[in-house]
Amino acid sequence: MKKWLKKRNISIPNDFLIVISKPSTIIQTSHGYMNMLQKVLHLQFLLSRIEKIGSSYKKEVLHTKELKKVCRILLKEHSPETFDALKFYKIPRHEILTGALCSNCPSPIALKRHHGTWFCTNCGTKDKTAHVKAINDYFLLTNDSPITNKQFRHFLHLSSADIVKKLLAGMPLPNKGATKGRVYLPASDYQNITELKG
Ligand SMILES: [Zn+2]
Repeated sequence: MKKWLKKRNISIPNDFLIVISKPSTIIQTSHGYMNMLQKVLHLQFLLSRIEKIGSSYKKEVLHTKELKKVCRILLKEHSPETFDALKFYKIPRHEILTGALCSNCPSPIALKRHHGTWFCTNCGTKDKTAHVKAINDYFLLTNDSPITNKQFRHFLHLSSADIVKKLLAGMPLPNKGATKGRVYLPASDYQNITELKG
């Protein structure tokens, strides 16, 4: 970020935070590194920490117009990181644990589909949108490989092509091709897909 700003002759102070999105994650540090707890925090404290950081800088360096310009350039030059996790960790694709997984159970439990929802035979949790997380997992694990109805059916442990067709159609995924050869691609806006209901 510093290099990026310098290259564009933008001189502003910058700071960093490491934000943990899973609330149950325990953040611990060894002795002598306690100051790192100022940098690593849970998502719920992000806004107040940003305000605190903001209030420690008194001098206005960029006017609103210039700031907007920096925002525009940042968005324009943003490119999502591509990372082939399976290749990196040398994991064959058939070893991936498949299924729409239970968000409540500590070990991976594949949910069953029943009466239009997903449910866990282990803890009884019901989840209407578990397939949304499953397809995001699939895209993350396969470095955004396109997926067919048949592949997603296999991934979700379902036998009905019609049900999977409806699940796929209910997510804002770009798709290519027709009928059996149709492939679905990751949504460009991850936010849209995670907020989806049903
Ligand atoms: Zn469960």
